[in-house]
Amino acid sequence: MSEALNLYRLQKIDTRIHQITARLGEIDRKLSDDSRVKRAQNNLEKAQAQARQKRIELKQIEDKVEAQRIKRKTTQAALFGGKIKNPKELQDLQMESEALKRYISQLEDEQLDAMIANEEAENAEKQAIQALKQIKGTVAEENASMLGEKNKLETDLERLTRERDAVFQSVSSKALHLYQELRKNKHGTAVAAVTEGGCSICGQSLTPSDLQSIRASNRLVFCPTCGRILFAE
Ligand SMILES: [Zn+2]
Repeated sequence: MSEALNLYRLQKIDTRIHQITARLGEIDRKLSDDSRVKRAQNNLEKAQAQARQKRIELKQIEDKVEAQRIKRKTTQAALFGGKIKNPKELQDLQMESEALKRYISQLEDEQLDAMIANEEAENAEKQAIQALKQIKGTVAEENASMLGEKNKLETDLERLTRERDAVFQSVSSKALHLYQELRKNKHGTAVAAVTEGGCSICGQSLTPSDLQSIRASNRLVFCPTCGRILFAE
């Protein structure tokens, strides 16, 4: 087998190993990223605190309304109880009762606002619970799929590493050194296949004698333009 073919195989393996390693790194980063769940949890905590606050405010206004109603009942009882005969006193009680009625009506408006605010806060809390549940489900699903992919990639990586070792054995250390230098300097592509009589990477066309020596000889032939090792199938 020609050295160029071995190097071409090595390059294919190395490229795939590089892709797999990058993807495995990406998967690990994604698996350890719990920011979406954390964000949903924070939102829920905020919604819960808000709902708690609105419940307290509603309870407070309800108590206030109730207290004023009791107060007005007492005033009404005194007013119509028949025990108080003094007209001035009765007039004061009448005025107090009417003032309380107005105040209660005003408090009831506030109570209605508090009820609406409470309901809105409860709905927001329910939505936040739902959103958290949903994102947890999505993340679990994505993670399961990524773990499956990770397992497969790790198996591929083991196989490729064995294949790489085998190809390594059949390449001279001089060629290997050349290959590694070229990969460093030529954006990862050290070996270029010959297609349509030219270099598939830079497009340089090759003379028939170049093509013949690429096919026939066991020494490495380089592209006169980009300097890559040429390989013909
Ligand atoms: Zn070239």
